[in-house]
Amino acid sequence: MEIRKDFLPLNRPSIGETEIASVTACLRSQWITTGPLCKNFEERFQELTGARYAVSLSSATAAMHLVIAALGIGPGDEVITPSLTFASTVNMIALHGARPVFADIHYDTLNIDAADIEARITPRTKAIIPVHFAGAPAEMDRILEIADRHRLTVIEDAAHAIGTRYRGIHAGGFGRIAIFSFHPLKNITTGEGGLITHNDEPLEKMLRLLRFHGIERDAWKRYGRGGNPEYDIEAPGWKYNLTDIQAALGIAQLTRLDEFNRRRAELVVLYREGLKGVAGLELPADPSYPHDHSHHLFVVKILAMERERFMERLSDLNVGYGLHFPACHLLKYVKERYGVVNLPETERAAKRILSLPLFPDMTDGDVAYVCAAVREILGDPKGGQD
Ligand SMILES: *Cc1c(COP(=O)(O)O)cnc(C)c1O
Repeated sequence: MEIRKDFLPLNRPSIGETEIASVTACLRSQWITTGPLCKNFEERFQELTGARYAVSLSSATAAMHLVIAALGIGPGDEVITPSLTFASTVNMIALHGARPVFADIHYDTLNIDAADIEARITPRTKAIIPVHFAGAPAEMDRILEIADRHRLTVIEDAAHAIGTRYRGIHAGGFGRIAIFSFHPLKNITTGEGGLITHNDEPLEKMLRLLRFHGIERDAWKRYGRGGNPEYDIEAPGWKYNLTDIQAALGIAQLTRLDEFNRRRAELVVLYREGLKGVAGLELPADPSYPHDHSHHLFVVKILAMERERFMERLSDLNVGYGLHFPACHLLKYVKERYGVVNLPETERAAKRILSLPLFPDMTDGDVAYVCAAVREILGDPKGGQD
């Protein structure tokens, strides 16, 4: 095949005139840190998810940090999470002195296996962190039922789930805690950013304190006319607030969310047609329950050859890729601290998965090119140079 001249990346954020106008207006307003635009962005997330509260933050990792801190999770506690997730979750659990307990996944959907969650609950378990993997919702009814029976907190990792619905309910809308990410790779971006949704009034107070030094009021209320610059601190907090510049970008991106996710869905249809019947390749399976998929990632499994060789060949053909994720239970420090875990489905999937390019500004031709590249590589498993 003829090799394309320009590199096709795994992902590229879609930033247009809407975003530029929104950010420019913020810059011209002269209020650039946390203020009315962050509040507006939070309100839009309450609307999208149906959650009573939304707290904007500097990243989803910061969100996970604050949630774990606010829940008082620490030494002696266990938190159940899939191993196939971003390492930031496991880092936050470890940094609080708690123990990550890994539950296995369903090989076909890569989502957490509810039965295995239940099997790993002990008297020390405090919380469950399901991930809506690649934008397909985890099996929330079963997870919530298990959590309620054992009196555990559920923290949805909704980093992939902006636009994801499980039986009509948007991620973050289950009356529990959810964290979202606006890293440039996610379905909408603020450059960097994150958000917590939840329904719990005392938690809301705590999260807002922990977000900003332990100080009660937002800066724009302290520095506005007639504001009171005094403050007291009851407990120390971190510095994890989002800025209005970032919120301006996020608000503009949210107005385009449906357009983005519709385009992602179209591209996935093209991928499925273009890769149908390729031997040695498995396409992602959708969950059997009713859902709206945000199509955050398109994760295939390579069976016919070493993944490393496959990635080299994709690079030769000027195509990008991603790995979501290296299994967390196999990371060096995790193995050393917490020992070996038996996760057969995770390990079977982890060595085969690869994320192909998927982003709203991809053209139909880009997908056709990736499909042709994949077919060429797998049609020639020894990787000969034609
Ligand atoms: C991206 C991601 C995070 C972390 O998001 P940041 O905003 O970069 O901190 C957490 N969990 C999952 C599953 C992610 O994909």
